[in-house]
Amino acid sequence: MIRKINYLRLSITDRCNLRCFYCIPGGGWEKLPCQEILRYEEMLRLARVAVAQGIRKIRVTGGEPLVRRGVVEFIQSLHQVRGLQEVCLTTNGVLLAEMAPALHAAGLRHLNLSLDTMKRQRYQELTGSDNFLEVVAGLEKAASLGFNPIKINCVVLKDLNDDELWDFVRLARERPFQVRFIEFMPAVSQGKWARHFLPMAEVRRRLASLGAGEPVAPESVAGPARIFRFPGFRGELGFISSVSEHQCPACNRLRLTAAGSLRPCLFGAAELDVKGPLRQGATDQALGEIFQEAVRRKEAARDTFLPGRAMVSIGG
Ligand code: SAM
Repeated sequence: MIRKINYLRLSITDRCNLRCFYCIPGGGWEKLPCQEILRYEEMLRLARVAVAQGIRKIRVTGGEPLVRRGVVEFIQSLHQVRGLQEVCLTTNGVLLAEMAPALHAAGLRHLNLSLDTMKRQRYQELTGSDNFLEVVAGLEKAASLGFNPIKINCVVLKDLNDDELWDFVRLARERPFQVRFIEFMPAVSQGKWARHFLPMAEVRRRLASLGAGEPVAPESVAGPARIFRFPGFRGELGFISSVSEHQCPACNRLRLTAAGSLRPCLFGAAELDVKGPLRQGATDQALGEIFQEAVRRKEAARDTFLPGRAMVSIGG
């Protein structure tokens, strides 16, 4: 491969049990017919092809991955893909309390949980569902089972949850979680984005009394998050400035959508069809060449985020 692209985000469904205001377009989104969604055995084959092309970490995402039937068995099979070093899951946590034991038994340890508020009423306003207590129960269950690392993704939204920055800091101080503040990306509408975007520099200014912190050296498969440890903290804090400070040269990831398209760059419209060739009998080598082409396109990617493309259909 041309550069070290070792991380694949694999969206296994475009369905979701939440309607987060920053993720789902106001009018909803067009859901794929079932036959257009990659089957698990197709995804497993593509995972093997991806590993042959240098992928070492796969994150299972969605939509909400835990709503797809068979996800536990799929995650178990992913752990058996030779050469794959890390399997992770990103979830909204609504179904986590009930599924965490089976996921743990399937070999999963790396968990990212999306949680943007510590307030039940606000959770309902942001996500459209009164599931705050279930998510907290899911987090506690995962922690008690020994999932590690547990990373908590918090999208910072001006005037919607930016009064809770210190509550999230407290969470990282008291619990061994990596709390990551993420910039709001203009995926749904420019108007909403302009009203609620808060640059990461402002987040860090508001948290300046914490001090600089000790930077945590990125793992070889880490993304563009800047992670810090602070004295007395059991956990860590991360800052992800996906909008204000693109990290293109450091970006090590590809995305495979549930529809079977490879996306070289979250911020570009380009997608390469893999499902078509796969279903028409392409060899592993031919499929590998599509991964190589995606990496070449990544080299040429530019910052051209297309507003209106919902994260729910890309996988975040
Ligand atoms: N349903 C899962 C979840 O909630 O974690 C996985 C899919 S979700 C699309 C993946 C991540 O994308 C979540 O952490 C979510 O917060 C993030 N995300 C979605 N829309 C976003 C936006 N406009 N800006 C920043 N992050 C966003």
